[in-house]
Amino acid sequence: MPQLMEGKVALILGVANKWSIAYAIAKAFIREGAQVILTYQADRQKQTVEELAQELKAHRVLPCDVTQDAQLDALANELKAQGAVLNAVVHSIAFANREDLSRPFVETSRAGFALALDVSAYSLVAVARATAPLMAQPGHNGPGGGSIMTLTYLGSTRVVENYNVMGVAKASLEASVRYLAADLGASNIRVNAISAGAVKTTSARGIRDFSKMLEGGAKVAPLRRNTDPAEVADTAVFLASDLGRGVTGNIIYVDAGMQIMGFALTE
Ligand code: NAP
Repeated sequence: MPQLMEGKVALILGVANKWSIAYAIAKAFIREGAQVILTYQADRQKQTVEELAQELKAHRVLPCDVTQDAQLDALANELKAQGAVLNAVVHSIAFANREDLSRPFVETSRAGFALALDVSAYSLVAVARATAPLMAQPGHNGPGGGSIMTLTYLGSTRVVENYNVMGVAKASLEASVRYLAADLGASNIRVNAISAGAVKTTSARGIRDFSKMLEGGAKVAPLRRNTDPAEVADTAVFLASDLGRGVTGNIIYVDAGMQIMGFALTE
């Protein structure tokens, strides 16, 4: 069977462990024949990500804290020096202070708000700016360009209890997707977001009562179950491969249908 990403090179930011959505995406990209480059945030995570990369058969592992412009420049320079031509970039990164994901939103501090938006939304702009020049130029084996994608959540447009400042960050992230798609479209670079249903990951566990969100979601979602990270990953394959060539500036929901629901009567 032909592989959907044969000959493609993908940079994936946000693999922390086997539960990370980015891990599922890396696995799916490699299954489809892509060469995958992973990043880690700081020395503390280096060994874990290197071990995961070895197990996945990822091509390379490089450092990148997305809040540091110098590290983004260094990443881009390193990839350029190796002659890497990127076809896909996955931004699967978010952070907010734990207290901002448990107390009322109105109590969010100025610093907590700025931090959540910097790491979880602005970083997509910085990543796109650093990596877009590494994508194929038109004429280089075809139309050139590539696919940039990020991960978002329903809390951007609806109030989800305890999601708080992260919902505001995701709203900013989704608007950034649209503006980036408009800017980069002339270079045939597509920018999209996948809005995933709730998945039990390290970051998600920072949200108060996250297990109740999972339980409730499985009862209410049209498919009557939670989201499998492998389903999110297959949509990422679609966006990164030529199958997604006409799609840009979109938010694609992979959430067992949760986003269509209004009010549901549950026991
Ligand atoms: P995860 O495994 O904890 O991944 C989050 C990643 O963000 C980690 O690799 C973390 O690195 C990285 N990160 C945080 N700050 C960073 C920084 N300054 N520089 C570089 N990397 C940084 O959790 P996840 O659930 O898979 O999250 C991935 C994305 O999916 C996030 O955008 C999240 O909002 C989104 N999402 C998740 C769900 C869900 O229910 N899980 C649903 C919809 C959308 P370290 O671990 O090294 O800090």
